[in-house]
Amino acid sequence: MKIVVLVKQVPDTFGERKLDTTTGLLDRDASEPIIDEINERALEAALQQKDADKSVEVVALSMGPSSATDALRKALAMGADRAIHVLDDSLAGADVARTTAVIGAAVASEGFDLVVAGNESTDGRGGVLASSLAETLGVAALTSIGELTVDGTSVSGVRATEYGTVTARADLPAVVSATERAPEGRFPNFKGIMTAKKKPLATVTLAELGVGDSGARSTVVSVAERPARTAGVKIVDDGTAATQLAEFLASNRLI
Ligand SMILES: Cc1cc2nc3c(=O)[nH]c(=O)nc-3n(C[C@H](O)[C@H](O)[C@H](O)COP(=O)(O)OP(=O)(O)OC[C@H]3O[C@@H](n4cnc5c(N)ncnc54)[C@H](O)[C@@H]3O)c2cc1C
Repeated sequence: MKIVVLVKQVPDTFGERKLDTTTGLLDRDASEPIIDEINERALEAALQQKDADKSVEVVALSMGPSSATDALRKALAMGADRAIHVLDDSLAGADVARTTAVIGAAVASEGFDLVVAGNESTDGRGGVLASSLAETLGVAALTSIGELTVDGTSVSGVRATEYGTVTARADLPAVVSATERAPEGRFPNFKGIMTAKKKPLATVTLAELGVGDSGARSTVVSVAERPARTAGVKIVDDGTAATQLAEFLASNRLI
């Protein structure tokens, strides 16, 4: 059983996340790049399958700039067996369609029984890659899954909805996207960090994947800085605080 986990490196969610107003792309120098937390959960879901069945192979895959190697090294330290880094300068600013095509080619050439992605990245927030990838690979997609169970020929998972929980099942091979209800990622221990340095991390280019340079379908046409946050309204209770608060809420259509 081979489980491929899609790992995206994103700007630290607690850092200052900025767009480059000239290119419209993420200003990656504005904050520390980290492995997206939702991907640590996706990886944990795969590693728990490996804990239960040692023959399971977990492969971490990322498409990103050279710094994405750090995110993959963390995935290896957490317990992934191998890693694949799709690295190509022409991918800067890739949109969802391009990312799907490239990751699709990488996963198809690697071979897989199950692909586990996050349900939504914290930077692009497309929330569609797992589904678009399943479509590209011609397999089923189980999206927004919390608990994951694999039994050799099928995968099932529990999805929490506002109407209750849904248990969905699909035959393998399949693509699954994990939500924040998936188990929290394990912390790499010292042994994990040391062995990660020796684990295979392959770097592949678009030429090696046989993917042409079709460019992005969607482009950013303009970028405007987010307006600076204003201090906000301060209410001093001179006996009329309740009225002031009610008026503030009403004028902002909050009540
Ligand atoms: C601010 C911003 C706005 C954007 N707006 C658009 C837009 O309107 N249209 C558009 O087509 N593109 C847009 N993009 C680009 C888009 O984010 C990238 O193409 C991205 O690689 C895929 O989209 P996503 O992360 O939003 O996907 P999502 O569907 O949110 O990602 C879900 C999961 O897919 C996997 N995944 C996603 N990207 C990668 C990767 N590079 N390597 C490995 N795994 C990955 C991860 O497991 C992730 O958790 C935007 C990017 C940014 C930063």
